[in-house]
Amino acid sequence: MTLEDLDRRVLWHPFTQMAEWEPLVIERGEGNFVIDREGRRYLDGVSSLWCNVHGHRHPRLDRALREQLERIAHSTFLGLTHEPGIRLAEALVEVAPRGLSRVFYSDSGSTAVEIALKQSFQYWHLRGEAQRRKFVRLSEAYHGDTLGAVGVGGIELFHRIFGPLLVDSIAIPSPAFGLDAATAALERTLEEHGRELAAFVMEPLVQGAAGMLVHPRGFLARAAELCRAHRVHLIVDEVATGFGRTGTLFACEQEHARPDFLCLAKGISGGYLPLAATLATEEIFEAFLAPRRELKQFFHGHTYTANPLACVVGLESLVVLLEETLPNAEQMRSRFDAAVSRVAAHPRVRERRQCGWMVGFDLGDADGAAVCSAARRHGVILRPLGSVLVWMPPLSIQGDEIELLETATLRAISDS
Ligand code: PMP
Repeated sequence: MTLEDLDRRVLWHPFTQMAEWEPLVIERGEGNFVIDREGRRYLDGVSSLWCNVHGHRHPRLDRALREQLERIAHSTFLGLTHEPGIRLAEALVEVAPRGLSRVFYSDSGSTAVEIALKQSFQYWHLRGEAQRRKFVRLSEAYHGDTLGAVGVGGIELFHRIFGPLLVDSIAIPSPAFGLDAATAALERTLEEHGRELAAFVMEPLVQGAAGMLVHPRGFLARAAELCRAHRVHLIVDEVATGFGRTGTLFACEQEHARPDFLCLAKGISGGYLPLAATLATEEIFEAFLAPRRELKQFFHGHTYTANPLACVVGLESLVVLLEETLPNAEQMRSRFDAAVSRVAAHPRVRERRQCGWMVGFDLGDADGAAVCSAARRHGVILRPLGSVLVWMPPLSIQGDEIELLETATLRAISDS
């Protein structure tokens, strides 16, 4: 039996209609390419679902992993600790927006968000404000697929069916559809519901999975101000935007925002291993401190929390990002932007949406999946968001690879 047939027989793939599933078996990676079993090379145009940062098999990340394997692959963070987890937390606190001083690890973007929601809720509970149990979110929000994260999500196609199972959230219009309306709606919601609200959850600058909805400048800073004034936590989800994607290490930096919680995943391990972190302020952390018998501790933790392999690769990834990959991205940026502009000029592209290295081309009525299949034939892996074609290549991309991304995309749009 071929691997493809075996896959069809035993697997159930995420976000996939298995009745129409066409497996492509990837065997290896090399730099910014993934390679199938026939040796065909494909540019990883969406960074293996937005998480790869430095390309595949980066020698420094590989070495860090091998060295850690000589010590230990996994040891629990419940009741014990280890150097990779400690060192990475120290580094994250150093580079994160000011005021975020505590790191709680988990293993996916969804859990990073769930943890922020639960910590916010418990904080208010501990402070004697247990009525604060609602969350505010943006329309079209996406924060992951576990139930808590779905509760603050607003993508009809993914989330509607699970409605009866969810935490309570109040939607305000995304600022992508108008800055003033979004700001006014946030202000009104905070005024009307302030004392029932635990937190406002948002992606900063751009809502990725919503179709790369770019926010007008100023919303993030204004939202942070309004939340502070109304004593409602601000949870910023940088799962997609973090680690250089928007042009700065974190999107928050661009508006000097200082959230109460910061959710990180995807690029945190350079795209190597499942790892996530929820950062919180000292004030939030301190509310959970008490003698053990008072049971104020945060009762949440996953088996693979702070996996040491993931943490060493996370630390090395951050160093490589600052030393090597961000400078590369900066150098490549004008070529990338020029390629974006040329694709945006294709008559079938209705709208270009871009925030740094996160790009969406709205193809209107076109079938995004068909365009991506065509791109694959031209040597580039892409994955659409409905009719929005996404570009999110590794930040280690080179000039000739940007050219390949552009020509394959233009051909694919014309072919399909
Ligand atoms: N938040 C955002 C902004 C995301 O883009 C995603 C995933 N695309 C998630 C959360 C969920 O992350 P994960 O898939 O690792 O659970």
